[in-house]
Amino acid sequence: MSDGRKAVVVGGGIGGLAAAIGLRLAGWSVTVLEREKALGEVGSGLSLAPNALEALDALGVGERVRSVTHPSGATANLRTPDGRYLMRYRPGKDTPVAALHRADLHEVLQSALPPEVVRLDAEVVGVNGAEVHYKGGSLAADLIVGADGVHSALRRQGWPEAPEPPFRHCTVWRGVTEPGSTGPIEGSVTIGRGCYFLIHPLRGDRLYWALGARAEEPSRPSPSEHAVVRERTEDWHDPIPKVLVATRPDHVLRHDIHDLDPLPAYVKGRVALLGDAAHAMAPDLGQGACQAIEDAVELAAAVGGAGDLDAALAGYNARRLPRTHKIQREARRKCDITMSTAGMPYALTTFLLRLTPQSLAQRSARRVWAWDAPEITS
Ligand SMILES: Cc1cc2nc3c(=O)[nH]c(=O)nc-3n(C[C@H](O)[C@H](O)[C@H](O)COP(=O)(O)OP(=O)(O)OC[C@H]3O[C@@H](n4cnc5c(N)ncnc54)[C@H](O)[C@@H]3O)c2cc1C
Repeated sequence: MSDGRKAVVVGGGIGGLAAAIGLRLAGWSVTVLEREKALGEVGSGLSLAPNALEALDALGVGERVRSVTHPSGATANLRTPDGRYLMRYRPGKDTPVAALHRADLHEVLQSALPPEVVRLDAEVVGVNGAEVHYKGGSLAADLIVGADGVHSALRRQGWPEAPEPPFRHCTVWRGVTEPGSTGPIEGSVTIGRGCYFLIHPLRGDRLYWALGARAEEPSRPSPSEHAVVRERTEDWHDPIPKVLVATRPDHVLRHDIHDLDPLPAYVKGRVALLGDAAHAMAPDLGQGACQAIEDAVELAAAVGGAGDLDAALAGYNARRLPRTHKIQREARRKCDITMSTAGMPYALTTFLLRLTPQSLAQRSARRVWAWDAPEITS
């Protein structure tokens, strides 16, 4: 069991909480430092692919997460703004993803940890050797996990040569409909020129939607983000207008997309990066959170037992770099194509999608999802 080794996880997002659960299973004593005063994200959804569910199983919370998800065939159900189908989801044949409200995922992860593990209102300002300094104190640790998101302070300090996360020329608006306000609606992705509209059904008669659109510059707040989305999609097919009417205007979130150029290493000394801090990626493959949860399992599996910690961290680094780099690059490529407003690439994309057999599209998704969870032992 525990050999008394202590880990400090910086950031209480999906990756940080998953890492805390995994490290505790591996016998570590863990403290999570989170800068916000409350944990959890509200107001938007997420999809988890089979690889993330397998990782959550390895953390012992897979069944509980499944119980708050709804199957969605959105990514296999592709349409154009006038409503025509480019590709159709085949129930029973195609693998759905598991869609859920982010708040539900946070709740499951948080409830798998004793309350004293997470310290809120604890913004980390830097690391000095084995000491983590935060507003309010400092903690000594054998292992420091940087799970502090795309604009990670730990990455900036430890990887000063890494460029700032580039803007992907994409702004995303997201919302969740009021419960019971639309009736059942299937998941879908509607692809326009330089934009898309995603719908995932959620548990509790709700829908999660997202509009992604080309932006030359990072966006500025608008008096009504809801009005911006309605205007941009006003002549798009049903049920998009209905979905927007069913969303509270003050609950629409806006987010600029930044990703990272692949880092040459995720480990320096006793600091290990994971999730968006390590490999923030465009959301186009729906893999950012999935990869953060995989990282958590791989890190916990690597550092379990009483073996040499430096060798264990080198093992984590070696296992995660090739897989996450590949997915990061693929997500960037897909985002760049989707955000192109030029007529020719759009015509070509829709033409090719119409011709692509669903089985081929499924095969390429399965290649991304293919991952075997290592066992976590203490
Ligand atoms: C529009 C959009 C849609 C997406 N859809 C999907 C999807 O469907 N499926 C999927 O798998 N992924 C999706 N993603 C990606 C996914 O949201 C992220 O990859 C995932 O949330 C990353 O988790 P994380 O824990 O690494 O980082 P974060 O969620 O960013 O968490 C970082 C945490 O660290 C805290 N923090 C930051 N700095 C400090 C500090 N100095 N001290 C203490 N705490 C700090 C923050 O407050 C935060 O709580 C999407 C992303 C976007 C933008």
